[in-house]
Amino acid sequence: MLTKKANLFRIINNIYFKKNEPISLVHFITNRCNARCSFCFIDFENSDSFKDELSLDEINKLTKGLGKSLLNVNLTGGEPFARKDIIDIAKIYLKNTTVQSLYITTNASLPDRIENFAKTINSIDRELDLNFQISIDDLPENHDKVRKVENLFDNCMDAYWRLKKLNLKNVNPVISITVSHENCDDIKNIFDYLILKCKIDSLKCTIVRDEGVYKTPIQKKKKIFESYTWLTNRIQEMTKEKKINNYNLESIQGKIHNKKDKIAWKMIKEMYMEAKFISPCHAGSLFGIITSKGYVYPCEILEETLLGNLRENDMNFMKIWKNNITKNTKKFIIKSKCNCTYECALSFNILGNLRYHPQLIKAAFDRY
Ligand code: SF4
Ligand code: SF4
Repeated sequence: MLTKKANLFRIINNIYFKKNEPISLVHFITNRCNARCSFCFIDFENSDSFKDELSLDEINKLTKGLGKSLLNVNLTGGEPFARKDIIDIAKIYLKNTTVQSLYITTNASLPDRIENFAKTINSIDRELDLNFQISIDDLPENHDKVRKVENLFDNCMDAYWRLKKLNLKNVNPVISITVSHENCDDIKNIFDYLILKCKIDSLKCTIVRDEGVYKTPIQKKKKIFESYTWLTNRIQEMTKEKKINNYNLESIQGKIHNKKDKIAWKMIKEMYMEAKFISPCHAGSLFGIITSKGYVYPCEILEETLLGNLRENDMNFMKIWKNNITKNTKKFIIKSKCNCTYECALSFNILGNLRYHPQLIKAAFDRY
């Protein structure tokens, strides 16, 4: 549901015609993290990685200028709950922007902070969609070993069930599996363990991508692809059986989100083994990235394409979003038929592309 501040006409005009304000942002609020996953993009060897996070004052200034079309922000990191002021950051976004949903991607090592965050933010705005993506990639012992944190798997379960038990409409925890070279040989067992033993009923998956210091071992690519295909098919089947409930399939919004996931999975499967252009990407126009130090990028993959530094632009995001570098980058992305398997960008590319709308509209009337 749209809050008073968001203007539906302006949003539609922006998504389909102007494409000059972000509708979704990923904000890396910190690079700090207590885990050390082998596939992480953060350079933990370099102490500069953790310096110079944006302050609350700077985030306050930044969020006042994000336009009037912003519907979603993903607060991530690093581990976002490593920032003790994450509640204040979320409050600033609620006060200054038109967001309708917050996504928090977390390793769930701090269940107390997560639960407190959910209760506090939900009490401020009960209509806000509050989604917690809890990363689990392996069976308990291996999960803790790969991420190098004791009891991490147990903390993930603790956080998941605490959020479920709040029983608050619009607070949605989901277990998120990244299929990588570390777990691709054991995906079926991991899935069965989570569903049958842990009784998880909200579960999604992504496929690992080359980013920062991480590069996929080439000899594992085929196996990663097969495991991802198996997992997405299984999630689809169990969603039909109502054993996985990532969305409320009684609601139109839930049905559309579910269909959008299916379209994105299909696109990823067509593009993963061999790069292939399927549909134009709107990174740099409808979608963008803000790093912990205030650098703005079109996406997480084009890490050489800095659009601007907020601190050098008086924290004025739209000044960067409308500068010549961004304009040229947008042209380059469209002209070069840039393509990748980055789920966040794909979601907004699907929503911003009329080609997919007949499928999305049809899905809104499907019966489950
Ligand atoms: S939990 Fe996330 S941020 Fe932390 S090391 Fe692992 S991948 Fe990186
Ligand atoms: S296709 Fe991928 S790499 Fe290219 S701009 Fe979009 S998100 Fe970035």
